[in-house]
Parts: sequence; C-alpha cells; structure tokens
Amino acid sequence: MQHFLRNIYQHSQRLLEACLPSHCLLCNLASKQSLICSFCHDAILTERTYCLHCGCGLTASQDFCGECLQHHFDFQQLHAVASYQSPFPELIKQLKYNNQLLVADLLGLLLADSLKQRYNQQQLQIIDYLIPVPLHAKKQRTRGFNQTQLISNALTQNLPVKIAQKTIIRNKFTQAQEGLSRQQRAFNLNNAFSLSAEDKAALAGKYIVLLDDVVTTGATINSLCQCLLAAKVKRVDVWCICRTELQ
Ligand SMILES: [Zn+2]
Ligand SMILES: [Zn+2]
Repeated sequence: MQHFLRNIYQHSQRLLEACLPSHCLLCNLASKQSLICSFCHDAILTERTYCLHCGCGLTASQDFCGECLQHHFDFQQLHAVASYQSPFPELIKQLKYNNQLLVADLLGLLLADSLKQRYNQQQLQIIDYLIPVPLHAKKQRTRGFNQTQLISNALTQNLPVKIAQKTIIRNKFTQAQEGLSRQQRAFNLNNAFSLSAEDKAALAGKYIVLLDDVVTTGATINSLCQCLLAAKVKRVDVWCICRTELQ
C-alpha cells in the first residue's frame, strides 16, 4: 500500500513539474520550476523611494510628493511593485492582449514578495478583503478574463489575504483618462462604480485593499474608494503592479 501511494505521489510530482516552466519567464535561463530565476527576481524587486501616500517614485528623500501635499486621495496608502518601467509594461501587455495567463502568476508572486517588505504579518492579518478592480462587463466579455482577478488569485497563494466575494459593479465604459483635466476626469468617473445594498452592508466597517495592475493618475482608483467609503468601509489601501510617475 505504502509503495503504491509513493508511486502515485512521484507520478503527480512529475506531472506537476511538467506543467511548470523550467525557464525564467524573463531571461529564459533555467529556473528550477519557478516562474522567475533568482537573479531576475532580485533585480526587479529593488528598493525604490516612493511617496508614502500615493506610491509615486520620489527622487528626494521626503515622505510625501508635492501633489499629495495639495490633493489627498481617499485611500490610506498605495503600494506599487515598481514604476511603469521595463519589464512591467511588456509583461502586462502579454497578459492582457496575448493571453499569457502565466504572467498573472508571476505578477502576483512579485507583488506578494514586495508587500512583505512593507507590511508585517500583523498588518496583513487585519485586512478583511482584497477586491480586484472590476472591468466593465462588456470589456471582460471581450477579453475573456479580468487580469486583476487573476493577479489577485496568484497573490492569495503567496500572502494570507482573502478575496471578497462582493462585487463592485463598473457602470460606465470609461474612456481613457489621459489628456483630461482634473474636473473632466472627475465628471467622467462620477458614479462609475456601484455596490448592491446587500454588498454595502457586508463591507461596512471592513478594511479593504483594492488591487489594480497599473495606477496612472489615480482618478479611477479614487472613484472606487469613494464608492467603498460611501458604503462606510473603514479603510482602503491600494496595491498595484506599477505606479506611473507624476509628470
Ligand atoms: Zn531570469
Ligand atoms: Zn504622493
């Protein structure tokens, strides 16, 4: 019996290994069944100086950026793995437009490792739910998946957080926010998101983390925060892969 079970175990191990890539997704060198080799992993997760509130990169050693001193976002803090720089734009495009779903696993792993440098175990344990930023239903149908949901799934394999089963509805098929003024952006995103009465009640008083792939101006994510805060959520943090730099 023991021999039989050991055989099954060895077969399933071999099957699992065959499913995993044996080469680093970035440099293609051998990576012993992990998605990324240790060299690429360490090269990507370098220390960056960032604004403690909005997560944008800073050149000077200060806590907050000039923009945050004037306009406050409705989230408590934003954590990004990196600025919008190589290899991330390429990876995100591979995931979103070339259906390279394994990239979501890599991004989730990198985000988890980067978060462990900022949040300690205790800080992670008080988070109630992770909510992937929703896509408009039409866009999700065309793409076939929501990349933030896939990254969230991968993240929860590496970090003790759970995804909320509550759904924020994206009402508007929002156009790109680029080139719009602050007022135009706010108008464009007015009531862009909503929650059912039942979900509002379930999220009241909770500590929520929103997960996005790329945060650019922060207008979309802020609109989501306002939707959650209107539902009396206690606190919202934002986790993302890339935070673009302020112009
Ligand atoms: Zn590599
Ligand atoms: Zn800032």
